[in-house]
Amino acid sequence: MTDEAKPSLKEIAYVGDVTANATCPFCQNMRWSYAVNEDGTPWHSLVSYVRDGRAISLPAIVLTCDRCGFVRHHDLAMVRLRNAEGRNGG
Ligand SMILES: [Zn+2]
Repeated sequence: MTDEAKPSLKEIAYVGDVTANATCPFCQNMRWSYAVNEDGTPWHSLVSYVRDGRAISLPAIVLTCDRCGFVRHHDLAMVRLRNAEGRNGG
């Protein structure tokens, strides 16, 4: 895997900033966590889709509710686009 496929801490921070008031939809907890690799980069997942009959994988930032374990995904490409634009999602 290339480093380019891994989310950076800056990208995790961006998601944290724009979703700072997000509560877990199942337990209303407001604390979210992520795991890191040995090099300090956050884990990510590959969400599977089918486009025009072909399987594709979308890299996604993963955040887990500290209380109930609910897992949420944020499209890494979209996070990078918003970071490059210097926008905060508004
Ligand atoms: Zn929860």
